[in-house]
Amino acid sequence: MKITNNQNLPAPVVALLTRNYYTKGESQYSVTEIMSPPKIRRLREQYDAEIEVDVTSMLATQFGTFMHGKLEAKEIDGYLNEERIFTEVDGVKISGAIDLQKITPEGVVIIDYKFVKAYSVMMNKIDWEIQLNIYKWLVETVKHTKVSGLQICAFVKDFSKFETTKEGYPQAEAVMLDIPMWDSVRTETYVRNRLEMHRNAKVAHDFGEALPLCTDEERWAKESTYAVKRDGRKTAIRVFKTIEEATELAEKEKGYVETRKGEYTRCTGNYCGVAQWCDQYQGELNESA
Ligand code: SF4
Repeated sequence: MKITNNQNLPAPVVALLTRNYYTKGESQYSVTEIMSPPKIRRLREQYDAEIEVDVTSMLATQFGTFMHGKLEAKEIDGYLNEERIFTEVDGVKISGAIDLQKITPEGVVIIDYKFVKAYSVMMNKIDWEIQLNIYKWLVETVKHTKVSGLQICAFVKDFSKFETTKEGYPQAEAVMLDIPMWDSVRTETYVRNRLEMHRNAKVAHDFGEALPLCTDEERWAKESTYAVKRDGRKTAIRVFKTIEEATELAEKEKGYVETRKGEYTRCTGNYCGVAQWCDQYQGELNESA
């Protein structure tokens, strides 16, 4: 990966931001790698030498890493900080690093720190649910310890108290979120399926065959919406998910409907880092050109 410094930041800042604190120990897959789309993993590996990342885009990740480091150093009775747990599934070594375990008489409560924007707290949290349930499965099957709860401790970087009346908006700069628990059979099935997907993708890629497509969910699909507007008014009267509802209101209000086209945010913003080499996304762009 090539790191650029387009803003000409001072060398100490660059050195700090580009330090690699991440380790997955001896494992072949970390929990987040298991969850990540096989297509992204293979393309990132293939184009690693060509991927360009500006140092400024490392700020958010490093901010989280610094905070994790500080929190890890705070040892408090009844809590276990940062533990990496390893296991093997069909000969593949996997591991998960758990930020915090709170020891209670009922069992362990697994807590994961997230340094996020408010919209992440408001959005569907299925990735957080999967991640924490894999940690639960690791604690139960490797440590043979009961897990009594899963929680996200979310630090909201762009919190604004003026937005707290919005539905689902976090009510403070840091909030605790309860995450639903799965049984271990469901989690193990998920882990095995994902490992198989990664294995098949690697074989396909090695033989020059097509990689599995990223799903809508993996591409962070944002649906189209329909805004009812009226001449002379800057903001929309209301925004709907269907054009029928929007048209009905627009007729009543003597306004018009503006279509806000949905998109695959991960592809359009190149958050996967490999959009320019991706046949799936580039093919769609060519089709719509
Ligand atoms: S550009 Fe989109 S479809 Fe292609 S690898 Fe990235 S996320 Fe997946």
